[in-house]
Amino acid sequence: MASKTASRKKKQPVRRSKEKGTAGAEVKKFDVHFFHAWCKQCGLCMAFCPRKIIQADQNGLPVITDADRCTGCRFCEAHCPDFAISVDDRVPRRRKTDE
Ligand code: SF4
Ligand code: SF4
Repeated sequence: MASKTASRKKKQPVRRSKEKGTAGAEVKKFDVHFFHAWCKQCGLCMAFCPRKIIQADQNGLPVITDADRCTGCRFCEAHCPDFAISVDDRVPRRRKTDE
């Protein structure tokens, strides 16, 4: 009987996330894609981005300045009137030539 109780109290293995940040939290990365052909350069995405990582290029079109700082909040995507933005989970590249 005693051995049965002992086996029930066995420790479960601790699950660990694949990638950890400095505080131990899981760090997720995102990629932001702009479809410039649909963009009318209204500037809403630049205004709404809480990280201020969207800026206008020399033609006034939005570009990401530091993709690693994107939190994936999707404010830019949600406020674009022309559906010209797509925010996606970053998938690890398998080859240097992968886009
Ligand atoms: S998802 Fe959020 S943090 Fe990332 S670019 Fe868009 S508004 Fe900025
Ligand atoms: S919110 Fe959409 S249409 Fe406006 S500048 Fe950004 S990508 Fe272009």
